[in-house]
Amino acid sequence: MQFVKRPATTFRAWLTNGERRRLLQSAIMTTPLSKILDLTPAKLTDWIVAHDWPKFRAGQLRRWLFRRRATAFEQMTDLPQKLREQLAAEFQLFAAEVESHQVAADRTEKLLLKLTDGEHIECVVMREPERVTVCISTQVGCAMGCVFCASGMLGLKRNLSAGEIIEQVLRMQAVIGADERITNIVVMGIGEPLANLPALLQSLEAFNSPDDLGLGARHITVSTVGLPAKIREFARIGKEYNLAISLHAPNDQVRDKLVPVNDKIGVNAILEAADEYFEITGRRVTFEYVLLAKVNDEPQHAQQLVQLLRGRCAHVNLIPMNGVSVLPFHEPAAPRTQQFVSILEQAGIPVTVRKRKGADIDAACGQLRLKAERPVE
Ligand code: SAH
Repeated sequence: MQFVKRPATTFRAWLTNGERRRLLQSAIMTTPLSKILDLTPAKLTDWIVAHDWPKFRAGQLRRWLFRRRATAFEQMTDLPQKLREQLAAEFQLFAAEVESHQVAADRTEKLLLKLTDGEHIECVVMREPERVTVCISTQVGCAMGCVFCASGMLGLKRNLSAGEIIEQVLRMQAVIGADERITNIVVMGIGEPLANLPALLQSLEAFNSPDDLGLGARHITVSTVGLPAKIREFARIGKEYNLAISLHAPNDQVRDKLVPVNDKIGVNAILEAADEYFEITGRRVTFEYVLLAKVNDEPQHAQQLVQLLRGRCAHVNLIPMNGVSVLPFHEPAAPRTQQFVSILEQAGIPVTVRKRKGADIDAACGQLRLKAERPVE
């Protein structure tokens, strides 16, 4: 038999119509959809206009995403059917998968999200009588390496995109009751937010903008390990976001041991940047301080903290250590914590002790992800 070599371009002519259709469908299905939440409002409007729709359709779409809690394009019933189909053909609304959803006895809820590349992040919703606070992550893992923290134990994998940060809040919004609304957002989950500043700012803008979520800047708090140059950059955007700085020690000797990046920064540079944040934004800075038994909980540590913060417009938030099974740190006994509080109070430094939430669902940052990545522990 003679072998006839055909040119490759005629290959498709050999297929039946059904085969051709299936091939085409699988090509469409393997083209990854874009993440709509990654688009800035300007980019979204560009897309709408480029597809011959009037600009106001972009506003309607954003209202569905941020206010009307839509979880799919087909729910957006006041958008023309054709536009909904075009959106669904090009974009994913939610890109992550909810791998687990836990509800604690105190109604704290935690989602473990699996991102498109298989990485995991966590977000939490905490309830108080007058507040519904969402805590979100900004990175997969963390490079800061704080020795008592579960999030940094596996190092930094990558930054989250703005859409991945925004999705956490929208996912939480879809989980809470229709009669509840998010009143506060704290950026205190996995990662160092100021090390991912462009995506952080884009997502904060969506949370704050009256056209999107519309949450007041004073209801949004960013917690940082204390990166002075980034704190200044954050101050200069001219918003009244709250800043919380994870100080955890009253001097460099103790801080260097707890927060390894401190050896290149130093407590003084952090306090100067905090002063500038207050001068520019008018917002009182919070200093977070995780109390670790026999490490940073001595009366002399409290006294040194008083020296540092006296005369500054500051507030101290003492955080009871959340146990991480593989780490050798523990929360001090209650009288010890009370002694620390009293020393600050007597010196006129405003101080609060953070309430523990969701203790029965590993709600502290990084704990669930750590379990997902290291299932044996
Ligand atoms: N990287 C940022 C934000 C994420 S951590 C920062 O450092 O602030 C949010 C807060 O949780 C920080 O104050 C952090 O020090 C604290 N934290 C981390 N691990 C903890 C633990 N095991 N127990 C209590 N607080 C912890």
